[in-house]
Amino acid sequence: MTRHHPDSLMLMEYSAGNLSEPHALCIRLHLDKCAHCRSRVDALDSLGAVMMEQQSQVTVEASTFDSILARIDSEPAPETVTPRVHRSPLSKLLGDDLDGLPWKRQLKDVSVLDISDRFPGQQDRVVLQKLCAGGKAPAHTHRGEETTIVLQGAFADNKGVFNQWDFVVLGQEDEHKPVALEGDDCITLSVLSAPLKLTGTFGRLLNPFIR
Ligand SMILES: [Zn+2]
Repeated sequence: MTRHHPDSLMLMEYSAGNLSEPHALCIRLHLDKCAHCRSRVDALDSLGAVMMEQQSQVTVEASTFDSILARIDSEPAPETVTPRVHRSPLSKLLGDDLDGLPWKRQLKDVSVLDISDRFPGQQDRVVLQKLCAGGKAPAHTHRGEETTIVLQGAFADNKGVFNQWDFVVLGQEDEHKPVALEGDDCITLSVLSAPLKLTGTFGRLLNPFIR
């Protein structure tokens, strides 16, 4: 069960079709597993359709969005029903064997795979990161915004524990030092709107985006 969800603003931008393809992918991956956010997006989609019909003179205030979302939040989310022949957005993108991807080892515990070239014409960097079970990543801050979704396993940092399908956005002010939980390698997909800035001793050498 996911506990960290995309915020309302990001879901609105998704519903409106304003997100870049890599960011929209992160949302789709989360929605595929989160009935709570799916019902929020369904409501936003309906609202968007109504607004399109009435767009001429109607101004919808931010408080209207908030009250609608609050109402959705107070309703119980429907049970997740996975159709039998459902291919997840993840296996469409990466196949079914995440461990078998051509990972590049960066540190003892850290491997990366840059998949930006699967999104031609996009400025965002799209990077898979794998932290081996129980492994530690070096401390780093972020030069821009990093949107991350956990695809496998779980990691913890100073903000808490992030499990599979949890969603987290980190900004410039966030320095963190993720540790993978025991049991399974932790694989994340991150969309970087500007390069990471590693702060540890070997940071500059190891960061693939600074060189
Ligand atoms: Zn959610």
